[in-house]
Amino acid sequence: MLIDSYDRVVDYLRISVTERCNFRCQYCMPEKPFSWVPKENLLSFEELFLFVKVAIDEGIKKIRITGGEPLLREDLDKFIKMIYDYDPTIDLAMTSNAYLLKSTAQRLRDAGLKRINVSIDSLKPEVAQKIAQKDVLADVLAGVEEARAVGLKVKVNMVPMKNMNADEIVDVLEYCKERDMTIRFIEYMENQYASKEISGLKSDELLAILREHYEFEDEGFDGASPSRYYRMKDGYRFGIIEPYGDDFCKQCNRIRLTAEGNLIPCLYFDEAMSISKSIKEGDIAAAAEVLRDVVKNKPEKNRWGGEDSESSSRAFYETGG
Ligand code: SAM
Ligand code: SF4
Repeated sequence: MLIDSYDRVVDYLRISVTERCNFRCQYCMPEKPFSWVPKENLLSFEELFLFVKVAIDEGIKKIRITGGEPLLREDLDKFIKMIYDYDPTIDLAMTSNAYLLKSTAQRLRDAGLKRINVSIDSLKPEVAQKIAQKDVLADVLAGVEEARAVGLKVKVNMVPMKNMNADEIVDVLEYCKERDMTIRFIEYMENQYASKEISGLKSDELLAILREHYEFEDEGFDGASPSRYYRMKDGYRFGIIEPYGDDFCKQCNRIRLTAEGNLIPCLYFDEAMSISKSIKEGDIAAAAEVLRDVVKNKPEKNRWGGEDSESSSRAFYETGG
């Protein structure tokens, strides 16, 4: 079992399989980055799988594939199948913008994927286009329907922003509620790559809007989820991810691996250790040692919102959010 210096059990690994993306979301990657990580620096799926086996053997129980846009990486279903075949009990999930999901959902499901989180920031084609800087909505919604049809459990992420999609919070929630999909509103997190025009809604502003339409109760956190959940009278639950809040880090159980093999103990800490060399040399013991070190060095709290508040130079599309 992996336990950090604050007695938190770390059993969740997020793997960003690529930093590349087919969207240019205003809050994440409005411009194409100056340079991508060269392809030769990326770990192959075979190499990533070597590390996944180490991680599972050390106590990881949940794995989320993310990016950039993970569906841009060829043969992703084969990677998922490798993990599933090694340990079918792993809670195997993915986060995707859903643009390519219609044609891939069945293969992902067959490979062993159980759950998928998709980003829907707007149900208006022109607003979705403004946010992603591409005409994406029809394909995204088709992808969501296909994922549900093949039996993937779907959750939706929305980043509410002033003068952008704040007037659609109820509409997107209703879209999810009708389909029995949980929606999680993510507070916009400042980062140096985002468009300077973005201004996110904080949870109290979001809750005030929702209270005009619904009655609900605060259920608090659900296990190690970063989301605080609220339950409506009819039983429907929605979540708010509030990274600036005090409770966010207390139950954190996750570490992140980038596509080039950097193991990151906390989203907004610049410290990371590479497993690339040990994995490429097939030195499993050394990779396990790095994993244990990263867990040991996991910080108690992120550095948002406090006196020493700072933002990371690391991009969301690199760490996978
Ligand atoms: N491309 C996939 C997607 O968009 O779902 C996966 C990667 S994306 C980096 C993962 C999540 O991070 C998405 O739900 C996205 O909305 C969220 N995200 C990206 N930048 C963010 C920011 N600045 N603040 C809050 N959430 C952000
Ligand atoms: Fe791409 Fe996801 Fe970032 Fe949007 S949030 S640019 S879809 S990685």
